[in-house]
Formats: sequence, C-alpha cells, structure tokens
Amino acid sequence: MSSTHEVPSQRIPRLLYYLLQPVILLAVIGVWLTQPTNGSLFFITILFLQLTLGAIERRYPDRPEWQTPAKQTFTNVLLVAFLFGVSGSIGEIYTHLLSPPLDGMRTALGLDIWPHDWPLVVQLFMVFTLNEFFWYWIHRAEHQWSPIWRLSGHGAHHAFRKLSALNFGLNHPLEYFFLLLPAALLQLTFGIGAPVLGAALLLVTQASIAHCNIAMNSRLIGWFFTTNQYHICHHSTDREESNSNFGCAAIVWDRVFGIFCDNRVIEAGAGPMEPNTWQKLILPIKEFETSSLAPGTQR
Ligand SMILES: [Zn+2]
Repeated sequence: MSSTHEVPSQRIPRLLYYLLQPVILLAVIGVWLTQPTNGSLFFITILFLQLTLGAIERRYPDRPEWQTPAKQTFTNVLLVAFLFGVSGSIGEIYTHLLSPPLDGMRTALGLDIWPHDWPLVVQLFMVFTLNEFFWYWIHRAEHQWSPIWRLSGHGAHHAFRKLSALNFGLNHPLEYFFLLLPAALLQLTFGIGAPVLGAALLLVTQASIAHCNIAMNSRLIGWFFTTNQYHICHHSTDREESNSNFGCAAIVWDRVFGIFCDNRVIEAGAGPMEPNTWQKLILPIKEFETSSLAPGTQR
C-alpha cells in the first residue's frame, strides 16, 4: 500500500480526475434547490449516478481487476433494486412508530427550534453534517462490538472484494434500520422537512462516489467530503485500515476524532474469499469463517 495522490497510470482524462466529484455534487445540489420537495428526485438521482459512474468505470477503471462480469453486475442491480424497496418500507416503519412519540416530545420539550427560514443550502449542509455525525458513531459501534456487527449484518457490506458505484446500496437488509435511523430521528425530532430530502440526495451521491472504481483527486474536496480513496481504505481486508474513515459521505468527523487514513488499498473485502449471497444474508446468525474484520476475532 502507499499514500499517494498522483494522477494514476490509468489514462483517465484529467478533467474527470479533478472535476468529476465536485461537478456531480454541484449538479445534484443545484437540481434539488430547484425542486426541494420533489421526492422522485431520489430515484432519478440514483439512476443518473449509477449510469454515469457505471459508464466511466467501464471505460476508465482505476483497478481493472475489479471489473465484474455482466452477469454479476446484473445480479447486483437486482439486489440494489430489492434493497431500495426494503429501505422504503423501513422508512415507513420508522415514520409510523416514531412519529407519535417524537412529535409529542418536540412539543413537550420545546424542540421546535429548526431554522426553517435560513437559506435552503445552509439547512441542507446542517442536516448532512449532523446525519454524518450520528452515522459515524453507529458505524464505529458496528466495527467495535460484535453484537452490533452481527445484528446489522455490516460484514455483508464489507464482504465484497470488488467495489463499484453499485456497492453504495449493497448492505444487509437489516442494516437499513441502522442506515436510516439518523435521518429519521432528525426529521421526526425537529420536523425539518425538505432539507432532509436534500441531505438524502447528497448522502446517496457521496455513497455512490465513495465506492466507485474511478481514479479521482481527493486533495481539496477530501477535507470535508469523503472520497473513494478514503472510503476504499475503510473496505481494506486489513483490520487497522478498516477501523478508520467511518464517515461514508463526509470525512470531517474522522479528521475531528483522529482516525482518518489515506492509504491506497490493494485488497478489499472481509477476508481472502468472498462469501456468496446466501452466506452474506445469514451473517447475523453465522459469521464468515475467514473474516478478518469481525470484532472479537484476531487474525
Ligand atoms: Zn464499515
């Protein structure tokens, strides 16, 4: 492994290397600002990201050995589509279960303090940064404590040895309860409204970029947002590298809490062999035998 930010040997055009991530982020934020309550933007954004990043990954893969056969890509698309439905259902469950108590708590404790009249883009970054703060600690707990690792099935997300933009959504179905919790709590506690949709768009955009197999410059944007260089480090088979960069969309909290790492990782995954889909699914009741990341094990 090495720590490097040089333009890679793959012949990706310099414009893409330097500008792909900031241009995509500006485009997503700009479109949301024109239609801040349009819920269908969530699906449209995912489609746009996956088609764009998927096409660039095919043409300019950072790690050519990570390209997946068409059949595997198709399977991953089906899994992401299924998990998209799962996440929608879990969102409804949270709204149904948590709305009454949190509405009552907001009224009782006077928590109607969200600055709805502030510029939308400021509210967007407030929700995004707060959401990432809570997710940072949830994610860190998943890696720290075996019961949370198993209950969330987080090892399934780490099991993939070849990463691409599609990995943004390839989590265990149970983990969507964890992934959606910060936004649900923020929305239902403070009654935020449209900025939560904007933050969700920014999160899903960043998560797609963070997993993609495209060489991108991390130097400037990577002070606040995570980059694929940093997030792929978190997907390392090496436990020490994996116990860094817990922010999946923002890297700022890893910098604040001192566990930021910018190693370029050679090998991703949770061990020497990638488990099949069934083994990933039953992870909460049966850990991978060769896992190098599961807390409580030493390899
Ligand atoms: Zn992780």
